[in-house]
Formats: sequence, C-alpha cells, structure tokens
Amino acid sequence: MVTNADIGVIGGSGLYSLLDDAAEVEITTPYGPPSDAVTVGRIGSRSVAFLPRHGRDHRFPPHLIPYRANLWALRSLGVRQILAPSAVGSLRPELGPGALVVPDQLVDRTSGRPQSYYDAGGVVHVAFADPYCPAGRATAVSTARSAGWDVTEDGTLVVIEGPRFSTRAESRWFTSNGWTIVGMTGFPESVLARELALCYTTLSLVTDHDAGVEAGEGVTHEEVLAFFAANVTRMRSLIADVVTALPEERACPCSHALDGLRLPFELPG
Ligand SMILES: [Zn+2]
Repeated sequence: MVTNADIGVIGGSGLYSLLDDAAEVEITTPYGPPSDAVTVGRIGSRSVAFLPRHGRDHRFPPHLIPYRANLWALRSLGVRQILAPSAVGSLRPELGPGALVVPDQLVDRTSGRPQSYYDAGGVVHVAFADPYCPAGRATAVSTARSAGWDVTEDGTLVVIEGPRFSTRAESRWFTSNGWTIVGMTGFPESVLARELALCYTTLSLVTDHDAGVEAGEGVTHEEVLAFFAANVTRMRSLIADVVTALPEERACPCSHALDGLRLPFELPG
C-alpha cells in the first residue's frame, strides 16, 4: 500500500476514480482534521494524494474549509506539488462556460479566514508576488491546449469570501479592475501552499458569467453544480494528463520559498 505521494490534488469528489491502487489515509494535524480522509494512489507512474476540498459529502462551504489542515496533511504525506481544480465565474463576456483559465495572479477579497501558519513563535513573511508555480502553470497550459481545451494562459482570479455570490456592482468593479475570474476557494489555499514551500497550480473551469457581466438573474448554485457535473469527465482526464506531465524534479522557485527564514517549527513530511 502506498502511503506517501509526490503530487496532491485538491478538488471535487468526482475525482476519486482517477486513482489506481487507492488507499485511504486518516490524518490529524496541529490544525485539526482535513476536509476528509486523504486517498493515496497512482496515476500512471506518479504517486498522488487526493483530498476532496469540501469533504466527500460537501459539508464544508468555501468559507469554512479547513485550509490549513488540508495543506499540512498533504505535505505530511510527502506532497510537494499541488494541482487545484475549481469552478469559477467569468468576469469577461468572451470567456464563457467551458473555458479553462490558468491564472497567474490573484486578488484576495476574503475576510476572517485563517491564512497563515506563522501566527506565533516568530515573524515569517513569504514572497507572494507570483502566487502560482510557473512550472505547474506551463505544464497545465500546454497539456490543456494539446487536449483541445479553450485555455486562457494567464489572468487574475479574485477570491471572494462567499458563500454568497457577487452583487452586480461588485462584479462590475472586479471587471473594471481588469480581473478575469471570480471564485471562493483559491485563497488562502494558495498562500498556505507557499508557506509550506509547495508548488501550487490552479485549473479554473468557467461555469457561468458573474452577475455584472450579463443582465438576468445572476448565477445560481444549481447552475454551477449542473455545469460542473456535466464537465467532470473532461476535467478528470485533464487532471490525469497534467499530473503525469508535471516535472519529476522541481526546478521552480517554490521549493525555496522559505530559504533564509527562521521558522518556528519543522515542516511536516
Ligand atoms: Zn513550483
């Protein structure tokens, strides 16, 4: 039985079937239990740990996901590269449902979520100018393109607190700032990965236009779920392809995120 992994996937529960030789691992962390048991297995030659972001029964809404426990648990299994698919709303008319965005920038509009491991025992400031792994992004973009996806290879993800959707005014404001897509889970997941010196790459599947982009009622949760369900098979095969294409050895800056910093504890894994 495999009980460690190099690559972590945090996503919807439709992704369980990706893994061969799968085994469940119950993990506890200093931050409590993760969203669910982690399933460790293989995709091709790669060892992969899968964690359902919202829990298997979807019990955690975006603002209550135990983000710190999730990233800690994955790292403690040996994970160093994270792939994080998620559903997003589009802030641009030309980016419609089914488009894939691999963002290169992020704006945090969440509030009140614990967003650091370094709350005590010393001050640790990580660089976050470029929040995503450049190697992971390049791999995701080229893999998606070869598989025929309509892929936007950069863009800014604005992460809102939720669980409500944006008002029209908020949405228009996001668009007028030049931001590309809006979601609820991309932060603090990304910064916590950086704080553990992990590579983090997000695959954002557009499920709808945000409230300010179109007249009409705005997005509903039912529409998002229905669209995501209809695209599970497509996303699943993309994730498998990206996992197998990720670099075996990390040559990106992510592994050096904590170089020269005095950490108050030893990192797990
Ligand atoms: Zn990296």
